[in-house]
Amino acid sequence: MFGLGRGRRRRALLETPLPEAQRSAMRRMAPLVTRLPAELAARHEGVVQVLLAEKRFEGAGGFAVTEDMRLAIAGQAALLQLRAGADYYPGLHSIVVYPEAFVVAHETPDDDGLVHLDEGELSGESWQHGTVVLAWDDVRRESKKRDGYNVVLHEFAHQLDDQNGEADGTPVLRDRALAARWQPAFQGAFEEHQRRLKRRREVLFDEDAAENPAEFFATAVELFFEYPADLRREFGAVYEALAAWLELDPAAGLG
Ligand SMILES: [Zn+2]
Repeated sequence: MFGLGRGRRRRALLETPLPEAQRSAMRRMAPLVTRLPAELAARHEGVVQVLLAEKRFEGAGGFAVTEDMRLAIAGQAALLQLRAGADYYPGLHSIVVYPEAFVVAHETPDDDGLVHLDEGELSGESWQHGTVVLAWDDVRRESKKRDGYNVVLHEFAHQLDDQNGEADGTPVLRDRALAARWQPAFQGAFEEHQRRLKRRREVLFDEDAAENPAEFFATAVELFFEYPADLRREFGAVYEALAAWLELDPAAGLG
């Protein structure tokens, strides 16, 4: 491969369809991808090829990551990279897969410099240093079911948010016009969600989404694919901002 630069290698991968066996495995593992219109399906497969070739998939503690697992994860992560100028998660090097929910200990310093140890059971995590961590049993369940939760979309959305160095609910946006719409759309929806929770109204976003703008954004990406019509009806400005950013319109059949 000497002399064949990353750009050329990528262009070749982007034009390589998945072999039929992989295509049907991906569709079985992650039925969300079957909703793509035909003209996007080919591009999507190309992005899946890039992710499979460029990212390292590792099992945690000896867990064997199978091709089905890689296809389920890459197939859904690729949905966030169909836009023009997509850069395929440049900071992400590895995807670590645990068999089931894992316990993580975090040391977080507070304002006084004291370090707190938080422990929690997680089904997914996105690290700023180039790693996404996923629990396979949650990935499998949430990929097959349309229930508003999708840990793959959630964690890869965090990766995109972190790409500009700040986990603040605003990923890299292609132009100023979109950036100008983004902030008020998300800020307004985040505050509205908190008000609804306080009034104990039935809510589209869950309680975790009220934690901070980064969680709200990652949850919005899940809902954009899982319940697009509901998201568009309840938080139209957020839906429109996500549709413009990802260049997809799932409420109208993902096209
Ligand atoms: Zn999160």
